[in-house]
Amino acid sequence: MADFKRILLAVDFSEDSEFLIKRSLELANKYDARLFLVHMVVDLRGHLLERIFMSSLSDDVEEQMIDSAKKQLRELAERLGIAQTDCLIEVGSPKTGILKIVKEHDIDLIVVGNHGVGGTDILLGSTAYTILHKSPVDVFVIRLPQDRIAAEM
Ligand code: AMP
Repeated sequence: MADFKRILLAVDFSEDSEFLIKRSLELANKYDARLFLVHMVVDLRGHLLERIFMSSLSDDVEEQMIDSAKKQLRELAERLGIAQTDCLIEVGSPKTGILKIVKEHDIDLIVVGNHGVGGTDILLGSTAYTILHKSPVDVFVIRLPQDRIAAEM
C-alpha cells in the first residue's frame, strides 16, 4: 500500500479552501505525513490580454498580490494549525507551478479540489484536469461540498 509522507494541497482561496485543508489534514494524520500548502499567484504578465491592454502593469501590483496571498495563506494556516514553514506562495501558472513544486519539495501526493472558483457546473476544472493528467505522483481529488449536494439531488 502507498505510504504518503509529503502531501501538497493546492489552495486557490475559493470558499471551500478551509474544507479542503481540513480534509487534507485528516489525510496527513492518517499517513503520519507532513502537509504543505501552496497557492500560485497567477502571473498576469504572462497573459495575452494583459500584454495587450496593461503592458504598464507596475511591479507594485504584483507585489501587492503576493503580499495579499501570503497574508491569506498565513491566516488560514494559523487557524488550522499548520506551520508557516509549510506554506508556499509562488508566482506563475497553477498548472505548471504546482507540478514544479512537487519536484522541488519531493512531494508524494497532490491534493486538489475538483474545481476552483466559479467552476461549479463542471465536474473537473482545468487545473485539476491538467494536474491529474501530468502529475508524476498520485493525485487525490476532493469533491467539493456543493457538488456532493447536487449529486444527491
Ligand atoms: P480549477 O481546476 O482551476 O477549477 O481548480 C481546481 C483546484 O485546483 C482547486 O480546488 C485548487 O485545489 C487548485 N487550484 C486552482 N487554482 C489554484 C491556484 N491559483 N493556486 C493553487 N491551487 C489552485
